[in-house]
Amino acid sequence: MDKLSKVKGIGPKTEPLLNKIGIFTIDDLVTHYPFRYDVLRRSNLKNVTNPEEKIVIDGKVDSVPLVIRFRGGTNKLNFRLATNDGMVGVSIFGRAFLKNNLGIGENIIVIGKFDASKNIINASDIKFGILGNQEKIESVYHTTSGLSQKILSNAINYSISTYGKDLEDSIPDYLIEKYNFLNKKTALNIVHNPPSYDKLKEASLRLKYEELFEFMFKINYLRAQNNKNNLGVERKTDKTLDDFISKLPFELTNDQMHALDEIIHDFNSKYRMNRLLQGDVGSGKTIVAILAMYYNCLCGYQSALMAPTEILAVQHYNNIRELLKDTDVNVELLTGSVQKREKDIIYDELKSGKIDIIIGTHALIQDDVTYSNLGLVVTDEQHRFGVNQRGNLKNKGIRPDVLYMSATPIPRTYALTIYGDMDVSIIKEMPKGRLPVKTKVYTNKEMKEVYKLMKEELEKNRQIYVIAPLIEESEESDLTNVYTLRDKMNLIFGNKYKIDIVHGKMKGKEKDLIMAEFKANTVNILISTTVIEVGVDVPNATMMVIFDANRFGLSTLHQLRGRVGRSSLESKCILISDQDTKRLEIMEKTNDGFEISEEDFKLRGSGDLFGTRQSGDMTFKMANLKSDYKILIQAKVDSQDYLNNEDNNDSELKKRLVSSIESS
Ligand code: ADP
Ligand code: MG
Repeated sequence: MDKLSKVKGIGPKTEPLLNKIGIFTIDDLVTHYPFRYDVLRRSNLKNVTNPEEKIVIDGKVDSVPLVIRFRGGTNKLNFRLATNDGMVGVSIFGRAFLKNNLGIGENIIVIGKFDASKNIINASDIKFGILGNQEKIESVYHTTSGLSQKILSNAINYSISTYGKDLEDSIPDYLIEKYNFLNKKTALNIVHNPPSYDKLKEASLRLKYEELFEFMFKINYLRAQNNKNNLGVERKTDKTLDDFISKLPFELTNDQMHALDEIIHDFNSKYRMNRLLQGDVGSGKTIVAILAMYYNCLCGYQSALMAPTEILAVQHYNNIRELLKDTDVNVELLTGSVQKREKDIIYDELKSGKIDIIIGTHALIQDDVTYSNLGLVVTDEQHRFGVNQRGNLKNKGIRPDVLYMSATPIPRTYALTIYGDMDVSIIKEMPKGRLPVKTKVYTNKEMKEVYKLMKEELEKNRQIYVIAPLIEESEESDLTNVYTLRDKMNLIFGNKYKIDIVHGKMKGKEKDLIMAEFKANTVNILISTTVIEVGVDVPNATMMVIFDANRFGLSTLHQLRGRVGRSSLESKCILISDQDTKRLEIMEKTNDGFEISEEDFKLRGSGDLFGTRQSGDMTFKMANLKSDYKILIQAKVDSQDYLNNEDNNDSELKKRLVSSIESS
């Protein structure tokens, strides 16, 4: 029942388009909720005085549309419309193809602006049908080119009516009764085709509750598992970190010290640590983790640090080697590009306990790696949504402490709920002497100015990141790409400065080499896709230029921008875009990740509140953790009751929820 191809209207051409926007199953399709609703309410043309006001009117086509074609391929359609407010002219650009559908007498709805002096509507859109006496609410979907709103909406509605009854519901029956919830099929139907605001509210409430119930069930389940069996590694040592800390090139902030204390306190206890270390980009989470690993090593245990990308793993490795060079801690790196022979040696040394700290990507715990005495696992930039992140470790029969690091900015109250199965340490304070990154939005016409600023920066021997959304030229898109930008930058700066690129399709070794060169300041301008987004640390890079900035969510831009401003040097961030400048200007006003995620949330819905989708972050399709906090709390209580009640142990729903946790 999952297959998209079973849906009427989805053929081999449409399916890949759906995949492109993240729809792979019928379930994905019916939960591809509108990102916006347009309200159509009939305007009274007689009352329109402002020619800029948006109007909506319905009526019958009253003359054969006349097509005017212009040079350059544009066209214009003119016709008369009979409305309740009398006869008006309608004029619309680029819709010549509608001519044959606009027969005389056809009922249509016209949206646009009314020029009363000429009695003409300059239309922006035409829809077929009539407006009722009440307002009409229209769903608007995120889509991709080639996939119209209409195809999408037809496919969704077909799926709801054909498969709606069989869709799995994650709310137990007794709760559906208790809250008098709509059944799932009805709720889906309403959310996609709202007959009124009240109905829409009722239906969304139900779908939000379902999402949050399922989510909180998982969190509660994991916490219960944890408590049942929560013994971990208990260790103590007479040695302290004081001397080591006093020799660091900087002074730790109070928040860093506090977080470290909390971690060490967990180490010393016999219970297993499951802790989230949260702090905005650049707040200095890494050093806290390094100190924790060092302490763990002083106690005689091994540590593993997992990074999401090879670039980051290599950076951590170099960093840690440097910091621990005067100690006898044995640090190794294990990534996909390490040769087999070398790998085997590393495996042996992990098993024998010769390696104290191992750095790598997630393969570290997934591969067949055996540790001698693993006491601590740290994961960097790991956002949450695979709720059960410890699954892999548990299955190996080892119970090390776990520390997650995340730059996702969420307030403590939410954190306590959604990370309800973890303890949370928060770093709020930025290291001393940091200057806010100066951010400014430029249009493509103003590139000259941008190049001038880049030149000034290079002349000061500082380095620059340049970000583009695409790797190479593409037929489907005229977005800026890394290769074209390299050629352009070479033309402008190539005679004096070294320019290079790094992107996700390059081999690990190649990437490492280029990053090392950038770090050593032999590469002056580094052009890249968003692989740079997480974690990279080159303090001498003081400028970032982001092309097609409107393509990115604010939280992503904030993460990107976090690559500069990492020293006491003043840094700049330049956002280039001809569109969407209002949204982007928020970046000019604040450097606070939390504020930005809130703004993003206001503008785009919950999507970006917890970072972006592609980073595998926590995203709900309908619920919004901030505005739906009350529902979340209710779902938390209800799911806990449901979990505690052993009568439910045989229910299909409970089994399904539990098995989805264990397999995640
Ligand atoms: P993030 O929290 O984003 O992972 P990092 O741990 O990479 O941030 O730290 C950012 C930069 O700040 C690094 O260059 C790090 O060495 C430096 N740093 C960390 N703590 C301090 C501090 N207390 N004072 C000055 N610089 C610091
Ligand atoms: Mg980091």
